[in-house]
Amino acid sequence: MDSFQENVILNINSDEIKELEKGVKTLFKNSDRINLNITGLDKNFNEEEYRLQMKKISEFLIKELENNGVLKELNLLTDTIFLDKHENCMAGENTIIISPKEKIYTCCAEYSNNPDEFIGDLERGISKDYSKRLYETKNSNLCRICDAYQCKNCVYINRLYTNEINVSPSFQCRKSHIERDISIDILEKLKLLSEEIELPALREIKREDYLDPISKFSEGVENFIGYYKYNK
Ligand code: SF4
Ligand code: SF4
Repeated sequence: MDSFQENVILNINSDEIKELEKGVKTLFKNSDRINLNITGLDKNFNEEEYRLQMKKISEFLIKELENNGVLKELNLLTDTIFLDKHENCMAGENTIIISPKEKIYTCCAEYSNNPDEFIGDLERGISKDYSKRLYETKNSNLCRICDAYQCKNCVYINRLYTNEINVSPSFQCRKSHIERDISIDILEKLKLLSEEIELPALREIKREDYLDPISKFSEGVENFIGYYKYNK
Protein backbone atom coordinates (compact mmCIF):
# COMPACT_ATOMS: atom_id res chain seq x y z
CA MET A 1 0.00 0.00 0.00
CA ASP A 2 1.84 3.11 -1.25
CA SER A 3 -0.70 5.91 -1.10
CA PHE A 4 -2.42 7.20 2.03
CA GLN A 5 -5.84 5.64 2.70
CA GLU A 6 -8.17 7.21 5.23
CA ASN A 7 -9.75 3.91 6.12
CA VAL A 8 -8.38 0.39 5.78
CA ILE A 9 -10.15 -2.91 6.41
CA LEU A 10 -7.95 -5.65 7.82
CA ASN A 11 -9.33 -9.19 7.91
CA ILE A 12 -7.15 -11.59 9.82
CA ASN A 13 -7.92 -15.18 10.74
CA SER A 14 -7.87 -16.08 14.42
CA ASP A 15 -5.02 -18.55 13.86
CA GLU A 16 -2.82 -15.75 12.47
CA ILE A 17 -3.22 -13.56 15.52
CA LYS A 18 0.52 -13.58 16.29
CA GLU A 19 1.00 -11.38 13.21
CA LEU A 20 -1.59 -8.83 14.32
CA GLU A 21 0.68 -6.14 15.76
CA LYS A 22 3.03 -6.34 12.78
CA GLY A 23 0.18 -6.09 10.26
CA VAL A 24 -1.52 -3.22 12.04
CA LYS A 25 1.68 -1.18 12.41
CA THR A 26 2.52 -1.68 8.73
CA LEU A 27 -0.91 -0.48 7.64
CA PHE A 28 -0.82 2.50 9.99
CA LYS A 29 2.21 3.84 8.09
CA ASN A 30 -0.24 4.83 5.37
CA SER A 31 -3.52 5.20 7.20
CA ASP A 32 -5.06 6.76 10.29
CA ARG A 33 -7.87 4.23 10.70
CA ILE A 34 -8.10 0.46 10.53
CA ASN A 35 -11.31 -1.55 10.77
CA LEU A 36 -10.11 -4.86 12.10
CA ASN A 37 -12.12 -7.99 11.60
CA ILE A 38 -11.01 -11.25 13.24
CA THR A 39 -12.41 -14.16 11.25
CA GLY A 40 -12.72 -17.84 12.14
CA LEU A 41 -13.48 -17.10 15.77
CA ASP A 42 -14.35 -20.09 17.97
CA LYS A 43 -13.73 -21.49 21.45
CA ASN A 44 -10.07 -22.18 20.64
CA PHE A 45 -9.33 -18.48 20.19
CA ASN A 46 -5.99 -17.67 21.79
CA GLU A 47 -7.08 -15.02 24.29
CA GLU A 48 -3.67 -14.61 25.90
CA GLU A 49 -1.96 -13.93 22.58
CA TYR A 50 -4.77 -11.59 21.55
CA ARG A 51 -4.40 -9.57 24.73
CA LEU A 52 -0.65 -9.36 24.22
CA GLN A 53 -1.00 -8.21 20.62
CA MET A 54 -3.72 -5.66 21.42
CA LYS A 55 -1.69 -4.36 24.35
CA LYS A 56 1.30 -3.73 22.09
CA ILE A 57 -0.95 -2.00 19.57
CA SER A 58 -2.44 0.21 22.29
CA GLU A 59 1.07 1.23 23.37
CA PHE A 60 1.83 2.11 19.76
CA LEU A 61 -1.36 4.21 19.51
CA ILE A 62 -0.52 6.04 22.73
CA LYS A 63 3.03 6.77 21.51
CA GLU A 64 1.69 8.12 18.22
CA LEU A 65 -0.68 10.35 20.12
CA GLU A 66 2.04 11.67 22.42
CA ASN A 67 4.57 12.24 19.64
CA ASN A 68 2.35 13.47 16.81
CA GLY A 69 -0.88 14.58 18.51
CA VAL A 70 -2.88 12.20 16.29
CA LEU A 71 -5.06 9.42 17.62
CA LYS A 72 -4.83 6.68 15.07
CA GLU A 73 -8.00 4.61 15.26
CA LEU A 74 -8.28 0.87 15.51
CA ASN A 75 -12.03 0.25 15.61
CA LEU A 76 -11.89 -2.52 18.24
CA LEU A 77 -9.83 -0.41 20.66
CA THR A 78 -10.70 3.22 20.07
CA ASP A 79 -14.35 3.29 18.95
CA THR A 80 -15.85 2.32 22.27
CA ILE A 81 -14.23 5.35 23.93
CA PHE A 82 -16.44 7.67 21.88
CA LEU A 83 -19.63 5.60 21.63
CA ASP A 84 -22.69 5.72 23.85
CA LYS A 85 -24.46 2.66 22.48
CA HIS A 86 -23.78 -0.65 20.73
CA GLU A 87 -22.45 -0.29 17.19
CA ASN A 88 -22.84 -3.74 15.67
CA CYS A 89 -24.13 -4.53 12.20
CA MET A 90 -27.73 -4.66 13.49
CA ALA A 91 -28.46 -7.67 11.27
CA GLY A 92 -32.16 -8.49 11.24
CA GLU A 93 -32.82 -5.47 13.46
CA ASN A 94 -32.06 -2.48 11.23
CA THR A 95 -30.30 -4.11 8.29
CA ILE A 96 -31.17 -6.86 5.83
CA ILE A 97 -29.46 -8.37 2.80
CA ILE A 98 -30.95 -8.76 -0.68
CA SER A 99 -29.46 -11.54 -2.79
CA PRO A 100 -28.92 -11.46 -6.56
CA LYS A 101 -32.00 -13.74 -6.75
CA GLU A 102 -34.00 -11.03 -4.96
CA LYS A 103 -34.39 -12.99 -1.73
CA ILE A 104 -34.17 -11.22 1.63
CA TYR A 105 -31.88 -12.50 4.42
CA THR A 106 -31.12 -11.27 7.91
CA CYS A 107 -27.40 -11.16 7.09
CA CYS A 108 -24.84 -11.99 4.43
CA ALA A 109 -23.57 -15.07 6.31
CA GLU A 110 -27.08 -16.51 6.28
CA TYR A 111 -27.24 -15.93 2.54
CA SER A 112 -23.85 -17.61 1.97
CA ASN A 113 -24.31 -20.56 4.33
CA ASN A 114 -28.06 -21.12 4.57
CA PRO A 115 -29.50 -20.02 1.23
CA ASP A 116 -32.90 -21.61 2.02
CA GLU A 117 -33.33 -19.50 5.14
CA PHE A 118 -34.52 -16.33 3.45
CA ILE A 119 -37.16 -14.28 5.23
CA GLY A 120 -38.86 -12.90 2.14
CA ASP A 121 -38.26 -11.59 -1.33
CA LEU A 122 -38.41 -8.32 -3.21
CA GLU A 123 -41.86 -8.99 -4.58
CA ARG A 124 -43.61 -9.79 -1.29
CA GLY A 125 -41.25 -8.05 1.15
CA ILE A 126 -40.49 -9.73 4.50
CA SER A 127 -43.05 -12.52 4.55
CA LYS A 128 -41.76 -14.88 7.24
CA ASP A 129 -42.02 -14.33 10.95
CA TYR A 130 -38.34 -14.52 11.85
CA SER A 131 -38.78 -13.29 15.44
CA LYS A 132 -37.35 -9.85 14.81
CA ARG A 133 -37.45 -9.00 18.51
CA LEU A 134 -34.73 -11.58 19.16
CA TYR A 135 -32.39 -9.58 16.93
CA GLU A 136 -32.84 -6.40 18.93
CA THR A 137 -30.00 -5.62 21.32
CA LYS A 138 -32.46 -4.31 23.92
CA ASN A 139 -33.98 -7.80 24.11
CA SER A 140 -30.69 -9.58 24.78
CA ASN A 141 -30.27 -10.21 28.50
CA LEU A 142 -26.50 -10.07 28.15
CA CYS A 143 -25.95 -7.27 25.66
CA ARG A 144 -28.30 -4.84 27.36
CA ILE A 145 -26.19 -4.94 30.55
CA CYS A 146 -22.91 -4.76 28.65
CA ASP A 147 -21.03 -1.67 27.49
CA ALA A 148 -18.52 -3.30 25.14
CA TYR A 149 -20.00 -1.05 22.48
CA GLN A 150 -17.40 -1.99 19.85
CA CYS A 151 -18.48 -5.66 20.00
CA LYS A 152 -19.77 -7.15 16.77
CA ASN A 153 -22.33 -9.19 18.66
CA CYS A 154 -22.56 -11.31 15.56
CA VAL A 155 -26.00 -12.92 15.62
CA TYR A 156 -24.83 -15.42 13.05
CA ILE A 157 -22.11 -16.60 15.47
CA ASN A 158 -24.71 -16.63 18.25
CA ARG A 159 -27.02 -18.92 16.34
CA LEU A 160 -24.19 -21.15 15.16
CA TYR A 161 -22.68 -21.75 18.59
CA THR A 162 -25.52 -21.38 21.10
CA ASN A 163 -28.56 -22.06 18.89
CA GLU A 164 -29.95 -18.77 20.12
CA ILE A 165 -30.08 -15.54 18.13
CA ASN A 166 -29.61 -13.33 21.18
CA VAL A 167 -27.19 -15.38 23.29
CA SER A 168 -23.54 -14.92 22.50
CA PRO A 169 -21.07 -17.78 22.98
CA SER A 170 -18.61 -17.01 25.75
CA PHE A 171 -15.64 -16.69 23.40
CA GLN A 172 -17.25 -13.79 21.53
CA CYS A 173 -17.93 -11.87 24.74
CA ARG A 174 -14.50 -12.63 26.19
CA LYS A 175 -12.75 -11.35 23.08
CA SER A 176 -14.76 -8.13 23.23
CA HIS A 177 -13.99 -7.67 26.90
CA ILE A 178 -10.26 -8.05 26.29
CA GLU A 179 -10.63 -5.17 23.82
CA ARG A 180 -12.70 -3.23 26.34
CA ASP A 181 -10.02 -3.69 29.02
CA ILE A 182 -7.28 -2.37 26.77
CA SER A 183 -9.44 0.53 25.59
CA ILE A 184 -9.40 1.74 29.19
CA ASP A 185 -5.60 2.14 29.01
CA ILE A 186 -6.02 4.37 25.96
CA LEU A 187 -8.90 6.25 27.56
CA GLU A 188 -6.81 7.03 30.65
CA LYS A 189 -4.04 8.43 28.47
CA LEU A 190 -6.54 10.46 26.46
CA LYS A 191 -7.94 11.97 29.64
CA LEU A 192 -4.46 13.16 30.61
CA LEU A 193 -3.88 14.65 27.17
CA SER A 194 -7.35 16.15 26.72
CA GLU A 195 -6.21 19.51 28.08
CA GLU A 196 -3.61 19.80 25.33
CA ILE A 197 -5.39 18.07 22.44
CA GLU A 198 -8.90 18.76 21.21
CA LEU A 199 -10.93 15.56 21.42
CA PRO A 200 -14.58 14.54 21.13
CA ALA A 201 -16.36 13.79 24.41
CA LEU A 202 -14.85 10.79 26.20
CA ARG A 203 -17.02 8.36 28.10
CA GLU A 204 -16.31 6.61 31.38
CA ILE A 205 -15.44 2.92 31.17
CA LYS A 206 -15.21 1.09 34.46
CA ARG A 207 -12.74 -1.75 34.99
CA GLU A 208 -14.56 -5.04 35.58
CA ASP A 209 -13.28 -8.24 37.12
CA TYR A 210 -14.83 -10.47 34.46
CA LEU A 211 -14.49 -11.09 30.73
CA ASP A 212 -17.84 -12.82 30.27
CA PRO A 213 -20.82 -10.57 31.14
CA ILE A 214 -22.85 -13.62 32.10
CA SER A 215 -20.94 -13.30 35.34
CA LYS A 216 -22.63 -9.91 35.93
CA PHE A 217 -25.97 -11.26 34.74
CA SER A 218 -25.88 -14.21 37.16
CA GLU A 219 -25.27 -11.84 40.11
CA GLY A 220 -28.57 -10.10 39.39
CA VAL A 221 -30.61 -13.29 39.14
CA GLU A 222 -31.83 -14.86 42.32
CA ASN A 223 -31.27 -18.63 42.53
CA PHE A 224 -29.32 -18.63 39.31
CA ILE A 225 -28.87 -22.29 38.53
CA GLY A 226 -26.72 -22.58 35.47
CA TYR A 227 -25.67 -25.50 33.40
CA TYR A 228 -23.73 -23.01 31.31
CA LYS A 229 -20.02 -23.37 32.04
CA TYR A 230 -17.92 -20.26 31.70
CA ASN A 231 -14.71 -18.71 32.90
CA LYS A 232 -15.12 -15.37 34.60
S1 SF4 B 1 -24.50 -10.93 11.94
FE1 SF4 B 1 -22.33 -11.42 11.88
S2 SF4 B 1 -21.98 -12.39 9.91
FE2 SF4 B 1 -23.96 -11.34 9.82
S3 SF4 B 1 -23.48 -9.34 8.96
FE3 SF4 B 1 -23.43 -9.12 11.16
S4 SF4 B 1 -21.31 -9.45 11.76
FE4 SF4 B 1 -21.56 -10.22 9.66
S1 SF4 C 1 -19.57 -8.68 24.78
FE1 SF4 C 1 -21.22 -10.22 24.74
S2 SF4 C 1 -22.83 -9.24 25.92
FE2 SF4 C 1 -21.40 -7.63 25.33
S3 SF4 C 1 -22.24 -6.80 23.42
FE3 SF4 C 1 -20.76 -8.41 22.91
S4 SF4 C 1 -22.01 -10.24 22.66
FE4 SF4 C 1 -23.24 -8.77 23.78
